[in-house]
Amino acid sequence: MSPSPSQGKGKLYIVGTGPGRSDQMTMRARDAIASSTHVVGNQIYLDNVSDLLAGKEIFNSSMGREVQRAKKAVELAQDHMVSIVSGGDAGVYGMASIVLEIVEKSFPETAVEIVPGVTAASAAASLLGSPLSSDFMVISLSDLLTPWVEIERRLEAAFGVGVPVVLYNPKSLRRPDNLHTALSIAKKHLPGTTPIGVVKDAYRPDETVTVTKLEALAENDDFVDMHSTVVVGGLDSRIWAEGESVRGIITPRGYNRKYAY
Ligand code: SAH
Repeated sequence: MSPSPSQGKGKLYIVGTGPGRSDQMTMRARDAIASSTHVVGNQIYLDNVSDLLAGKEIFNSSMGREVQRAKKAVELAQDHMVSIVSGGDAGVYGMASIVLEIVEKSFPETAVEIVPGVTAASAAASLLGSPLSSDFMVISLSDLLTPWVEIERRLEAAFGVGVPVVLYNPKSLRRPDNLHTALSIAKKHLPGTTPIGVVKDAYRPDETVTVTKLEALAENDDFVDMHSTVVVGGLDSRIWAEGESVRGIITPRGYNRKYAY
């Protein structure tokens, strides 16, 4: 895809700001925001880039007002340099799709650049070792935009394959049992000893990393919240240990099948 040339002098950057800490943002993301005169986003993501915002026009809105925010950004981008910021990668459960749908429908000439960011799956995996080294799947347990029956169907299929499954949005205030239900589906397909990593607030001040097992998390997932990413290991995943202490999770890519080391 190539960005379409703008009729006006504006441009829209759709910027993934990474998991939280500013040094986990890409240079391109920082440059895009720095070169914008207008920045649109949810307050949480704007806070992550507060050092870049001096002198800019800021448009923030609360969670759940995504469509309104996306429209505002596209309108502004007809005449201005605009960044719309979205946590992690803007194209992974983020703002990119709604922004592009509005561009396509109402302002097709808008110049757009999508700036990738470190998504929660990569951020969480880096803190757990190497749990996602080969094929893996990603599923969001949020049923705000996807019906729950469809999510369950996807969970059955994903866990049935036996590769690691990363769960985004594992808990919501409205549906606190989503994770428990997902883990019950996992238990139908995977041994209770399957390693699981839970990373809460990756690369943020309250970061916590927990390595546990499927049977234990299915028993008690109280400590998991909506700022957590859950990495359910696959059939090849194992605990990475040093003596008695658990350092993380490794899913071998398969070098052992080819090489002696
Ligand atoms: N676009 C974002 C995902 C938004 S969905 C991205 O690419 O990362 C929101 C979910 O992402 C949260 O419920 C949580 O599961 C996950 N998440 C986002 N940031 C996180 C972080 N810093 N640590 C752990 N999980 C995170």
